[in-house]
Amino acid sequence: MIRKTRLFTPGPTPLLPAAQFAMAAADIHHRTPEFRALYQRVLEQLKAFVGTKNDVLLLASSGTGAMEASVSNLTSPGDHVLVLSAGKFGERWTAITKAFGCVVDTLTAPNGETFSLAEVKAHIKPETKAVFVQATESSTGVRHDVEGIAKLIQEIGSNALLVVDAITGLGTTHFDVDGSGIDVIIGGSQKAVMIPPGLAYLALSDKAWAATETSKNPRYYFDLRKERKNALKGESSYTPAVALIAALGAALDYIAAQGGGDLAAGRKALVDNAETCAAMTRAAVEALGLKLFGPTAPAAAATAILPPESVDSGVIVKELKSRFAAVVTNGQGEMKGQIFRIAHIGFFDYMDTIAIIAALEQVAVSTLKIPNFQFGQAVAAAQKAYVEATTAKKQEAEPVGAR
Ligand SMILES: *Cc1c(COP(=O)(O)O)cnc(C)c1O
Repeated sequence: MIRKTRLFTPGPTPLLPAAQFAMAAADIHHRTPEFRALYQRVLEQLKAFVGTKNDVLLLASSGTGAMEASVSNLTSPGDHVLVLSAGKFGERWTAITKAFGCVVDTLTAPNGETFSLAEVKAHIKPETKAVFVQATESSTGVRHDVEGIAKLIQEIGSNALLVVDAITGLGTTHFDVDGSGIDVIIGGSQKAVMIPPGLAYLALSDKAWAATETSKNPRYYFDLRKERKNALKGESSYTPAVALIAALGAALDYIAAQGGGDLAAGRKALVDNAETCAAMTRAAVEALGLKLFGPTAPAAAATAILPPESVDSGVIVKELKSRFAAVVTNGQGEMKGQIFRIAHIGFFDYMDTIAIIAALEQVAVSTLKIPNFQFGQAVAAAQKAYVEATTAKKQEAEPVGAR
């Protein structure tokens, strides 16, 4: 059969065609009224997408640029910070905060697990200036309770800023960003917003903005104060990624359309969609007789799956690619060969999810030789999970704007 390439990776994720067309047509100069209008519109849309009253800034960088900017703009060398790390992206927080001279206490959870609030509480000291965490740890498919951590910081009267890498959390997790007390929330273009890599975005609370004024770190390209001043005028400090910004506008229009024209409702639909795809996948995994890598706190961004014992996960990754042109990801770092990951973040739907599960059934029969497995078992489980997820969602549907 012919093969049609499809990404099932947690970034880059599949591209929205309307966003690709918008990119191709974005032949405009950035110091013009046309661009200023586009930029201001997209920044406003992003605010609604993130669900914050704070200004959202766009940076021409991959997601890590916004992670670095949040460290360089909010901390000073010698500051005590806490990093909550449960995988490769948690390790990145430790590396960045150390690079900027912070005194770093890293609370580590084993790969595939999350932290208890009691553990987190024990690590927040009077001198802790900031807490860094992922909303979802893409390397393990685990979700962290960032709203719980935000509440905890307030309850114990800590002054620490909470900085959340929500690069795969946005669009897969219901957040009350301002209400829960998240100080910095960070997103990336190649994840939920369905466009290519190259843009990072972030929003800062008033408390975080105050910290940018006292930080002693040198800043130039990632000077958030300068970026905010310019953004208010519809400008970016340097040449913006014009084509990606046009694509982002088109993608946010699409997300709004999924919510009947309202971006907050569209975001909710997108999160519910990822939740449903994830629930279908988890049910299929169980029906295949395989195990989830992070069963206690599974993220809706991606599902991490353990291959049968004695099978290298790379075999499954390779076979899905060679037979069906379906690109799923292996484990990162020390998890390579141990797990494989199927993404649900962004432009995935029911059809995509059923298809990857059916392809996985083919691999299960031809290669994994799972005893007693028959075609249709995993698909049937996913079908049931779909019905359950979508009928439950309808019952608890909130009125638009309730969040
Ligand atoms: C993708 C991702 C990032 C950003 O990585 P970049 O390669 O810099 O875009 C950061 N954190 C998480 C959790 C991610 O999934």
